[in-house]
Amino acid sequence: MPLNIAMDGPVGAGKSSIAAEVARRLGILHLDTGAMYRAIGLTALRRGVDVTDEAAAVALSRELDISVAHEADGQHTFVNGEDVTGLIRTPEVSMAASSISKYLGVRQGMVALQQKLAAQTPMLVDGRDICLRVLPGATVKLYLTASAEERARRRWLEMQQKGASDTYEQVLEDLKKRDDQDMNREVDPLRPTEDAVIVDSTEMNFEQVVEYILAIVKEKTA
Ligand code: C5P
Repeated sequence: MPLNIAMDGPVGAGKSSIAAEVARRLGILHLDTGAMYRAIGLTALRRGVDVTDEAAAVALSRELDISVAHEADGQHTFVNGEDVTGLIRTPEVSMAASSISKYLGVRQGMVALQQKLAAQTPMLVDGRDICLRVLPGATVKLYLTASAEERARRRWLEMQQKGASDTYEQVLEDLKKRDDQDMNREVDPLRPTEDAVIVDSTEMNFEQVVEYILAIVKEKTA
């Protein structure tokens, strides 16, 4: 079985950027599973599919061909062959992704696809249900978190740099709403599994978190 590292955590914990850097230093691929749910969320918005309608959301997810490719600048995510990587990071798509990912029928298809990808090659997979559902046998399991205020502050700074006009309060409110939806859904809610190492990055900078995780990986794979 190839080396699998599972990483879960709430909104804005820095999973994507940390996971990308850790994977790069280990020379393995990084699979961002949130991007796959976002791709379905984007398509629901584009087609006017009601994300509160479970049957419609599940039917949509079954009809779509979601795929990923790993390129020099990171993961690209596709819907029926269209590269949607640059379109899936808006707050609307974030909420739509969180809404459609509540449904078992949507999750089953994505989990199967993610497991297939991780079985092919060494991979660091990040998401919400990776330790529990996607890679229960992963060599290393991590739960990356930070206080809600710190996560919102980081996300707000990042959005400001991109020219967004959202206030810190708006970002914090959106983050808490999505956390609440992800942590309190019936199917595989976000929570640390007992065998996951909890990495609280509230008081750590990017490099410290990367180094800390690399040390955990080294220990677990020794
Ligand atoms: O990680 P990211 O914020 O891109 O994920 C978007 C949404 O997709 C999350 O809020 C969550 O609802 C959903 N998701 C999930 N399971 C995963 C990854 C993401 O339910 N493995």
